[in-house]
Amino acid sequence: MSLIVQKFGGSSVRDAARLKNVARIVADTYEAGNDVVVVVSAQGDTTDNLIAMASEVAAKPSRREMDVLMSTGEQISAALLTMTLNEMGFPAKSLTGWQAGFLTDSNHRSARIRRISKERLENELGKKNIAVVTGFQGINRYDDITTLGRGGSDTSAVALAAALGAARCQIFTDVDGVYTADPRLVKTARKLSEITYDEMLELATLGAQVLHNRSVEMAKRYNVEIEVLSSLERKPGTIVKEVVKVEKMMITGVAKDDKVARIALVGLPDKPGVAFKVFSLLASRRVNVDIILQSIGRDNTKDITFTVADSDKQIAIDALTELSPSLGIKEIVADDMISKVSIVGAGMESNPGVAAKMFEALFDANINIHMISTSEIKISVLIDKELGSKAVTAIHNAFEV
Ligand code: ASP
Ligand code: MG
Repeated sequence: MSLIVQKFGGSSVRDAARLKNVARIVADTYEAGNDVVVVVSAQGDTTDNLIAMASEVAAKPSRREMDVLMSTGEQISAALLTMTLNEMGFPAKSLTGWQAGFLTDSNHRSARIRRISKERLENELGKKNIAVVTGFQGINRYDDITTLGRGGSDTSAVALAAALGAARCQIFTDVDGVYTADPRLVKTARKLSEITYDEMLELATLGAQVLHNRSVEMAKRYNVEIEVLSSLERKPGTIVKEVVKVEKMMITGVAKDDKVARIALVGLPDKPGVAFKVFSLLASRRVNVDIILQSIGRDNTKDITFTVADSDKQIAIDALTELSPSLGIKEIVADDMISKVSIVGAGMESNPGVAAKMFEALFDANINIHMISTSEIKISVLIDKELGSKAVTAIHNAFEV
């Protein structure tokens, strides 16, 4: 007998039929003799709808009240799933974030979990109840409801698995695992049986959108193995863990991110402290900068080009426009018609020539590279947006992943 945490995303609990399907999966796990803790997301688009409802009554609702509102979506799912299980004759009990012991900091709308008090959960499991816990939420030390940020139910599930020492943490979703590329773009993309935490983290930030980033960070820190799998097909998914069996692949996946903007600062003075001023200002406005490129200085000026998320573009431009007179920026040029295409793979470190192979694939497809950045297990290039899908396919083919 082991303890298993099973998390179901919004599409998996969308309606009564899906709830019954989920209840069957949970019931089977329980009947096999396991203790089961279930974590649920809000049904379908519920969270989006709740946010829309708030904007109908207030221009700037307080973050505290937003958390009270948004946390209700998961409460609906938890109650309905529990009723479904009870109806099928299984002992189940729903628990909200605070009842399940989630204590967070006070950063409303993107709170971090401080600790989990396990007493109540252990008590329910001791009574052989299936615990159905609302994802995405907890309370702070003033007993106010907090939420963990969009997509945060994954993190709730991993945190519970870590705290309870679960044998596994299964994240059920509407895709059946992690692929070598987006299967909608690349016909030959295939499902990975395993992937490392680091690779998954790179892919998550690159827009693979399978798991919440913080859940993977947490899984790595506490060494929780995650399985990503489909709630609609009963077959093994992808296991995310520290070390995977060595396969002969050089790369694990190709990802594309269309939500990037490039900002060029033209004609900056070529002297010490300029980059510091630019990027510390951006950091103070909470703008995350990705790829940075600085030109060789000429005539005492230089250019700095960098990328940010689309959603941060205007914040960055406004901040830099303020700074522009004191720093002497001649021109700020922004462009969001670009895509970032990246390859990720732990095998890269020990395989020379990976970058060359990627660039060759792009050359053969007649695609021009605007910027390049590399890390130990990732190489990213910036290219024109309309060529993004073509690039992913070309690279995927070249590496035969
Ligand atoms: N319901 C929340 C959201 O839509 C949390 C989650 O689904 O993980 O972001
Ligand atoms: Mg999600």
